[in-house]
Amino acid sequence: MSNLSYIDDSNGAWQTYLAQVDRVAPYLDHLEEYIDTLKRPKRALIVDVPIVMDDGSIRHFEGYRVQHNLSRGPGKGGIRYHPDVDLNEVMGLSAWMTIKTAVMNLPFGGAKGGVRVDPRTLSARELERLTRRYTSEISHIIGPQKDIPAPDVGTNPRVMGWIMDTYSSGQGHTVMGVVTGKPIHLGGSLGRVKATGRGVFITGQQVAEKIQLPLKDAKVAVQGFGNVGSEAAYLFADAQSKIVAIQDHTGTVHNPEGMDVEALKLHLEQHQGVAGFAGAKEISNDEFWLVDMDILIPAALEGQITPERAQNLTAKLVLEGANGPTYPAAEDILLERGVTIVPDVICNAGGVTVSYFEWVQGMANFFWSEEEVNQRLDALMIKAIHDVWQTAEDKVCSLRTAAYILACDRILKARQDRGIFPG
Ligand code: GLU
Repeated sequence: MSNLSYIDDSNGAWQTYLAQVDRVAPYLDHLEEYIDTLKRPKRALIVDVPIVMDDGSIRHFEGYRVQHNLSRGPGKGGIRYHPDVDLNEVMGLSAWMTIKTAVMNLPFGGAKGGVRVDPRTLSARELERLTRRYTSEISHIIGPQKDIPAPDVGTNPRVMGWIMDTYSSGQGHTVMGVVTGKPIHLGGSLGRVKATGRGVFITGQQVAEKIQLPLKDAKVAVQGFGNVGSEAAYLFADAQSKIVAIQDHTGTVHNPEGMDVEALKLHLEQHQGVAGFAGAKEISNDEFWLVDMDILIPAALEGQITPERAQNLTAKLVLEGANGPTYPAAEDILLERGVTIVPDVICNAGGVTVSYFEWVQGMANFFWSEEEVNQRLDALMIKAIHDVWQTAEDKVCSLRTAAYILACDRILKARQDRGIFPG
């Protein structure tokens, strides 16, 4: 399916993305002429990241930074630390950032980075060395006006602080704007940590209203209970939904009556995950997909909703907190079955939107209250999801294709107006 010599055909994130782009092509009119620009990354850097481990041995890790598209502004997108990271995945994730920033109409292109590592196996010192060496290796192509990294799976504000410091050392002065998702006392924005989960809730709330699914007593199942899944779940619980199932890296827990969220928070403070939570029953990871639910929030990794799982899913609404959780073939089955999917490129765009606010606040050296951040975030997300909904109605297509129509129109018009160098 891919026409790039360095990518093998497989079932990865990049191939999922390409299938999604193919679906939008018929709606692009004359801009279809430029569509190939979306089917190849502008720039992909692979770096070797050698570090001295605490025991004195040397280990090499594989790192990436891919700038998929820069037509609308600097690259923007997170950095992932995970043992499954590879070029195909980072390319897919970078492309989804291009679409995401364009759907939200943020003045950015799309990029993503990653290191193939399990961060849980490194000490804090090793993680810092890895981050600093990786930053130094990609420092030629990042910068506050070039490409601005942020957190993703396996990274956090502390890692962003090291990136900012390492990049700044190379420049000879502090450059806050090179990265977002920083700690608050280092130029971070209030509300950034919770922004992605908040956006999942806000877009979910809007769409639930459209499909007449009351949030009160709605049964919610969440896969992935990190930064995104947990915040979304807490906001749904505040809206009186029932959190009936949670799956994380420690296991799956189920309570058809809904879990006591305060007790769950206490459990999570003391343990590394949901396993062993007394307020629910442990079930197998496979059983998660069969639980009776109204709303499913996949908030872990890509490629989770397979055609087989889609066939049996009871959810009426899927809120994609993760990037790329649904295979195209599975999406067809869900749509056929009348399930509404709020696609990743809008559903989880709250994080990059507050990253944008952080970048803007940093440049102005003027910082907003958390209330102001949340108000602006809610307003942008509500407008974007309504535009996507309206486009889906007008064009009679899925919400994902509608989001791609809006995004591709903006990206390819920018491509057209910039022209092809050297002309
Ligand atoms: N990693 C997040 C995402 O996938 C946030 C990116 C950012 O803030 O730049 O959208």
